[in-house]
Amino acid sequence: MGSVDAATQKAGLVFPSGVVSHTGASGLILGGGTGWLTRRFGLSCDNVEGFTLVTAEGSVVRANAKENADLFWALRGGGGNFGVVTEFEVKLHPLTSVVLAEGLTPKADIRRLLEFWRDFMAEAPIDLKWNIDLRLAADTQKVPDELRGRPVAGSSLVWTGDPEAGRPYLERALSLCSLDSVRSKTVSFLNLQTMADSDFPHGRRYYTKSGFFAYLANWAEASDDAANVAWVRGLFNKLRPAMKPGVYVNFMSGDEQDRVPEAYHERWDRMVAVKSHYDPNNFFRLNQNVPPRKLAAKKS
Ligand SMILES: Cc1cc2nc3c(=O)[nH]c(=O)nc-3n(C[C@H](O)[C@H](O)[C@H](O)COP(=O)(O)OP(=O)(O)OC[C@H]3O[C@@H](n4cnc5c(N)ncnc54)[C@H](O)[C@@H]3O)c2cc1C
Repeated sequence: MGSVDAATQKAGLVFPSGVVSHTGASGLILGGGTGWLTRRFGLSCDNVEGFTLVTAEGSVVRANAKENADLFWALRGGGGNFGVVTEFEVKLHPLTSVVLAEGLTPKADIRRLLEFWRDFMAEAPIDLKWNIDLRLAADTQKVPDELRGRPVAGSSLVWTGDPEAGRPYLERALSLCSLDSVRSKTVSFLNLQTMADSDFPHGRRYYTKSGFFAYLANWAEASDDAANVAWVRGLFNKLRPAMKPGVYVNFMSGDEQDRVPEAYHERWDRMVAVKSHYDPNNFFRLNQNVPPRKLAAKKS
C-alpha cells in the first residue's frame, strides 16, 4: 500500500487502507481493508467504485454499480475468488496530516478504560479512531519506571479533523493513562502509515486467528460477583464459545477453510451464487475459498 500512499499524497489525497505500508493493496482491498481511516471514510473496499478483472475463462470484465452489479458486490469483501483484478477505480479524500496521541494505562485501570472506551466511542466524532492493545510495556526509558515490563493497555488515537477541535476528545480519551506515558503530536499521513512497519518486517513467521466477541458480562447483584468474575476469567481459556459468529476474512490463516462461511454469514448464499456464475470450476481456489455450488454439493 505504501506506493499508493506516496502517489496519492503528492496530490494531498488519501486512500483508506491498512496500518502497515508493505501490505499488498489488492488482497487487502478485496477482503475489506481496515486501518486508521476506517471510521472516517469506511473500509478500503467501500472506497472502490469499479473493478476490471480477468475471469477464470479469460474474459476481461468490468464490475461497478451499473455493470455486473452482482460481481461488484461480491468483490468488495469476497477476496480473490472471482478473478484476477487488474484495475481498481477508487475514491480518494483530502488529508495530509493527523494528530497522533498515545498513552499507557496500568493493569489496575484496564477494566475501567475498556468500559470508558465502549461508551465514549459510541458517541465520538468519526474523526477519532482509538485502538487499544493489551501487552507487557517495553522495558525502556521511554516508558515510566512503574510500568516497565508490566501488563498495560496501550492506547493509540488518531484524530483526522481540525487539531484544536480534537484536543478535548483526545484529553478525555487519555485521562485513564499514566500521565508520564502520554504523548501527542501532529504527524504526516505518510509517517502514520509507516510507523508500524518495523514491528512487522518481511521474513518473519505470521499466524493470525481472529473473531468478534459478544460484550460484555455485567450484572446487578454483588452476591453474583464471584461466579461472574470466574466466568470472565474462564473466557480466556475458552475464547471460541464466547465469540460472536463472524470473522474478518483478511485476518484468517490458511488452515481455516471451515470458517469461511462464518466470515460472510447471511451473505454466504449470495457469494456462492456469484462464485458459481463467474468461476464454476473453482479455478480461483487458493484463497479463503467460496466454493461454487456444484463443488460444494459434491463434498456434502
Ligand atoms: C503485517 C501485516 C499487516 C496487516 N495489516 C492489515 C491491516 O491493517 N488492515 C487489514 O485490513 N488487513 C491487514 N493485513 C491483512 C491483509 O489485508 C491480508 O494479508 C491481505 O491478503 C494482503 O493483501 P496482499 O495483496 O498482500 O495479499 P496476497 O498474499 O498477495 O494475496 C492474498 C489473497 O488475495 C488474493 N489477491 C491478491 N491480489 C489479487 C488480485 N490482483 N486479484 C484477485 N485476487 C488477488 C489472492 O488470491 C489471495 O487469495 C495485514 C497483514 C499482514 C501480514
